[in-house]
Amino acid sequence: MSVLRMVILGRQGSGKGTQSLRLAEAYGCVHLSTGDVLRAAVAEGTQLGRQAEAIMTSGGLVGDDIMIPLVQERIGKDDIVANGVLLDGFPRTADQANGLESMLDARGQRLTVAINLDVAVEEVTQRMMARGREDDSEDAITRRLDLYEAETAPLLDWFAERGLLATVDGLGEESDVFDRLKAVIDQRNA
Ligand code: ADP
Repeated sequence: MSVLRMVILGRQGSGKGTQSLRLAEAYGCVHLSTGDVLRAAVAEGTQLGRQAEAIMTSGGLVGDDIMIPLVQERIGKDDIVANGVLLDGFPRTADQANGLESMLDARGQRLTVAINLDVAVEEVTQRMMARGREDDSEDAITRRLDLYEAETAPLLDWFAERGLLATVDGLGEESDVFDRLKAVIDQRNA
């Protein structure tokens, strides 16, 4: 089995975070969640955290000028080079996708697969209202979902054009969804 470099895409509330943790453990790769990185920076009060905090609370997107170098630096670290990575929350814009392609190219690396964990917008809205996270105000939820449709959904085509996209139905039991995800990854990594 080669080193896996994967992207998982999905609407906020699709279960992407939960499934990503399980997948990273199952495949021994690093789970790189840009949301987690930013939340940790906010909690620590670093310069990055101070830049990101207000944007995150309002449901906006942190700038590509911040996000691309952040991921570029992280994917050059030994643990990811050796064990691979599951990118969760990045790329979120066309510029981030191009940035990812360039940084992998520069390292002579390619993505294994980009998975679209597919859950309809009505369903994810219900789920997010129910979970009540601090940055889940109704306005912020709506804004994030709108931004997803505008900025991130077009990336599905971008990955499809490169033959990298696999769509997985995110409805159903967590373990069933997990099995579907593993089947797609194993098929791509055969
Ligand atoms: P969710 O999937 O619920 O939006 P995340 O944990 O992925 O949660 O991200 C939380 C917030 O962090 C986002 O709403 C956004 O403000 C910021 N963020 C995370 N990743 C990125 C990214 N790649 N580009 C821009 N902003 C990001």
